Amino acid sequence: MTGTPGELAKTYDPTQVESGWYERWDSAGHFAPRAATGPDDDPFVIVMPPPNVTGELHIGHALFSTVEDIMIRWQRMRGRPTLWIPGADHAGIAGQWVVEKEIAKDGLTRHDLGRDQFLATVRDWMDSYRGRIREQLRILGASTDWSRFAFTMDPGPARAVRTAFKQLYDKGLIYRGERMINWCPRCRTALSDLEVNYEDEVSSIWQVRYQIADEPDRWITVATTRPETILGDTGIAVHPDDTRYADLLGKEAIVPVLGRRIPIVADDAVDPAFGTGAVKVTPAHDPVDFGIGQRHGLPALNVMNLDDTMNAEAGPFAGQTTMACRLNIVERLHEHDQLVKVEPHTHAVGHCDRCGTIVQPLISTQWWVNMQPLAAPAIEVVKSGQVRMVPERFTGIYLHWMENILDWCISRQLWWGHRIPVWYCKDCEHMTATDQETIDRCEACGSTQIEQDPDVLDTWFSSGLWPFSTLGWPDKTPDLARFYPGEVMETGYDIIFLWVARMIFFGIEFMGEPPFETVYFHGTVRDENGQRMSKTKGNVLDPTEITAQFGTDALRYALVTAGATGADLKLSMGKIEASRNFANKLWQAARFVIANTGDATIARDADDAPAEPTGPALSMTDKWVLSRLARTTADTTRALERFEFGEAARGLYEFFWSEFADWYIEAAKVRLQGTDEAAKAAVRQTLVYVFERTLRLLHPTMPFVSEELWQHLPHAGEMLIVAPWSTAGASYPAEERAFTRLQEATRAIRNARAESNIEPGKRIAAIVVGPYGAEFEATRAEFAFLARVAPDELQIVVEATAPEGALTLAVEDFAIYLPLDGLVDRDAERTRLTKEIEAAEAEVGRANAMLSNEGFIARAPDKVVQVQRDRLKGAQERVRLLQERLTALG
Ligand SMILES: [Zn+2]
Ligand SMILES: [Zn+2]
Repeated sequence: MTGTPGELAKTYDPTQVESGWYERWDSAGHFAPRAATGPDDDPFVIVMPPPNVTGELHIGHALFSTVEDIMIRWQRMRGRPTLWIPGADHAGIAGQWVVEKEIAKDGLTRHDLGRDQFLATVRDWMDSYRGRIREQLRILGASTDWSRFAFTMDPGPARAVRTAFKQLYDKGLIYRGERMINWCPRCRTALSDLEVNYEDEVSSIWQVRYQIADEPDRWITVATTRPETILGDTGIAVHPDDTRYADLLGKEAIVPVLGRRIPIVADDAVDPAFGTGAVKVTPAHDPVDFGIGQRHGLPALNVMNLDDTMNAEAGPFAGQTTMACRLNIVERLHEHDQLVKVEPHTHAVGHCDRCGTIVQPLISTQWWVNMQPLAAPAIEVVKSGQVRMVPERFTGIYLHWMENILDWCISRQLWWGHRIPVWYCKDCEHMTATDQETIDRCEACGSTQIEQDPDVLDTWFSSGLWPFSTLGWPDKTPDLARFYPGEVMETGYDIIFLWVARMIFFGIEFMGEPPFETVYFHGTVRDENGQRMSKTKGNVLDPTEITAQFGTDALRYALVTAGATGADLKLSMGKIEASRNFANKLWQAARFVIANTGDATIARDADDAPAEPTGPALSMTDKWVLSRLARTTADTTRALERFEFGEAARGLYEFFWSEFADWYIEAAKVRLQGTDEAAKAAVRQTLVYVFERTLRLLHPTMPFVSEELWQHLPHAGEMLIVAPWSTAGASYPAEERAFTRLQEATRAIRNARAESNIEPGKRIAAIVVGPYGAEFEATRAEFAFLARVAPDELQIVVEATAPEGALTLAVEDFAIYLPLDGLVDRDAERTRLTKEIEAAEAEVGRANAMLSNEGFIARAPDKVVQVQRDRLKGAQERVRLLQERLTALG
């Protein structure tokens, strides 16, 4: 919580700092877009990927909310009206599955409860989670407009779903048809191709021989990985050019066990080189066979129930599970000497994405979206660059999928979701599609004997409408006019087809243009070893726990700096701790700045913010840090424009810690002790100005600590969240180069001191020799302080020879002599150096021995050989340096 300037607590406590700001920003109305200003109104809009209301937020949510919040906060500071629409998704199959697991603890199924009571249970469950999602997004600092919070099952989005369905139905783009689908016997629903995961599994392949009808001694052998489907065979197919079977074409084979006669046909889809070259055709249970069946008029004979058991068509196996049937039919084939061979076989088996059950391909009547007409313009907008993907590589992935898209199965045999808005007439069989919640008569014959389709829509159907259903569509609302299309869609690459593609084609279809210009894909958060986080591995990082311990700012900083744009990221507790340390560094620096400027007059600019320092009192050091700030400001802006959030954050860290805190503040300490009042005023102005501007640049990434500290510094306006984004000030390239030389000289002296074991507090003498006398003279006091040189023993000269016993340091193109007489025990130092030289020479000997061993060179990988070469080079350099030092000691 803020106090008045000068009252900053001694220690940084993230919990304290982050406790009040969110409510204050929100209640000040800063999360809502400001009112339109006229024709120049250029709102920046992001629609949040609505988290599923099925559980706690995880680290992936923390990542997307951080990245989106950075964009929103940055654009808000740039002065654009910003709108970030929060929401929650009902999660269809996932939502139903979670609640089914929940009631299973009491031994109940959804059928025990019945549709109405089950749906009421789901709604209760979701309501409690909605609140938790909201609470967690607040903790993460997400500056979303809560007044526009949307839930996919709310009346508005639900009406949008019915309207979209009806419009597509009326255009003939939605149809009902019997097709091959993926069926999950556990969830008892159809799944889209994207909801099936294929995993290689070792199973068997069975070769089975079928008798040729009317020729008792003749057989044809086929191979199958699912023997239970033999019961649904309606044909045998061979390749048309396969001479082995030419004389069998047009004849019939007999289905084992059942004795049905089925035709032998020729089809191009058969690979003559695979197995025996003859395949069984089961149109009802295999997508390839379905195609063959259609081409040859073979019936699709369904032999399975929807609960993974065999139906009456399976004859003696009716009622058995598919797996029991498989074992029993194999045994029967063996008894009848029709089993030719069994071999181990690895093949890809489809599993339900939600529950992991093996998926059965089967024929079923479902609702479909005719994809070709919708895909064409959605391909075009990406090809033309109207919609851009970041990183770029996702463009090709998107286009490939869209160009090969199949019709989309949108009906699900679930209860939880948007019910299909179609009513079947019992009198005339007409189907009435409607955008109304309910109707009471058939639109064709007026009969009241109508019944709604029991199924619900794929959850991604409503997700695809999200960018405009959240703004009031199908009504022509002011929000829709002002905020559609948005600018950026930010989401995970794993849902590029499930969600992103569908938003694009629905946006074009219903709104006439795609819903965004840029899609930014973030990566997956992995642990520090690059492993996926999972409860079983025990490597899950919980955002709630992390923010409680280290603060939201630390978590946000760690997340955006844990990987490159669009790549998977590796997050570790070490990284989070280091980020917390950064916040702490900001805090401590603020305490210094406040302590040293609190009572001073700080000049203000036209906007009443601390003015950019100018004038003759500015020293080289001031100009250096101002120039570095200007560069950092430009770099940060450019990085954010390119979606390089990690680059932006890292650059600010480097500038703030390694330049402003480590060098400028240190140098400032000396100058503030001086007597030159004009110089002191310049230092104070620079401290405040640089810090205030840096906090503005940091705000999107670390909103809490930046706001809190900003409040304690001289500033313009009420809150940092709406302060203007910083623009780059003046550059001083000559001073930047000069200060860099001072830094190099300081580092060289510090290293020499450390290597000569000089006490850290001890001031030494130094002679700076070379062409930069004026620069060093100008920063004499600062340089002496930073390098711990006694000010009256610092000589700055154009030419000199090294005094006897002095160390010679070569820095760029000038030299520094350190006369260390009296500071080091010369005998002890000589002994130490001699020992070190011996050790380094031994190292050279060992490395040389390795490298002259031909066996080693021949067998060892290049990398290992290179390590030895580097080791040799390093040791040789040490010998040279140490000998030089020894000679210098005399
Ligand atoms: Zn399932
Ligand atoms: Zn009717």
